[in-house]
Amino acid sequence: MVNYRCTAACRHCLYACSPTREAGYITLETARQVCWLLRAGRCRSVHIGGGEPFLDFNGLVMMAQELNSAGIRIEYVETNAFWASLPEATEQLRRLLDQGVDTLCISLDPFHAEYVAYRNPLDLARLCDEAGMGYFLWKEQFVSSLSRLEAHKSHSRAEMEARLSPAYIRDTARVYDIRLGGRAINIERTYSKSFPYNKLVDDKPCSGLLSTNHFHVDLHAYFIPSGCTGLRLPLAELIAGIPDGRYPVFEALYQGGVAALLRLALERGNDAPVPFVPDKAGYPSKCNLCFHLRRYLAQYEFEELDAEHYEESLKYST
Ligand code: SF4
Ligand code: SF4
Repeated sequence: MVNYRCTAACRHCLYACSPTREAGYITLETARQVCWLLRAGRCRSVHIGGGEPFLDFNGLVMMAQELNSAGIRIEYVETNAFWASLPEATEQLRRLLDQGVDTLCISLDPFHAEYVAYRNPLDLARLCDEAGMGYFLWKEQFVSSLSRLEAHKSHSRAEMEARLSPAYIRDTARVYDIRLGGRAINIERTYSKSFPYNKLVDDKPCSGLLSTNHFHVDLHAYFIPSGCTGLRLPLAELIAGIPDGRYPVFEALYQGGVAALLRLALERGNDAPVPFVPDKAGYPSKCNLCFHLRRYLAQYEFEELDAEHYEESLKYST
């Protein structure tokens, strides 16, 4: 993840990216460090995402060069296609091809269409065809329903409900089978039944937190577990080995699940001006409760919690 800033603020964005997120882009120094650490951790292929990687095209080229130098294969670069109508679009595709980038993952769905004109991903696909760049539309099955929109503009929720379906949010989430973290926690709360917190708490360890089947590394060289966003660990420390007690929130979840996290939040609240008080309206799932517990704890001194993530996730376009 070369940045968190994005031209869109999609309502399902697991990383809560948006135009108001930090504007930084991965630096040459961090890119080199991340590539070295990925090699040390035996990671041999990646995809480049964000945020929106094309917000700094030279930065994107630099990232590709560093991955090439490290012998790490680039499977594809993700983009929302906001730049498809820029005069330099074809030249940028050629420059990426020169760097060995041969595939783009082009986002296309009703959530993106609230921010990016529906014609942009299709225009970019055509430019890719002309330039010899491979691509896939994610997800192509939405092309048919999106053709009911005006192609040259983004659409509000009211317009989408009128042209696609009053239930397009719930239906799109189902088609994607999206992970209901990040900004999508709001979708879950709107469309799912809620339960009292004590019905959701268990002590099953979240042992998938350290899975390396699919994980992310951000522009600050933090490892981010797949799905459980808002949590992070320095990649360098993860590879070198982390001593017990250094990251209490992560450790609580990894060893004792949400029950341990709840205990930590209640204990921390004993010394704080504002204790953690469970929402009387309940929570739709254990992971949703976990989000809110972590949001509470993020106001204190836990490096493994990205406080900005929690606040950005709650900026949800109703
Ligand atoms: S889903 Fe992609 S395009 Fe949408 S806000 Fe997140 S990073 Fe940006
Ligand atoms: S309870 Fe929290 S840490 Fe565990 S899987 Fe759900 S979001 Fe991830």
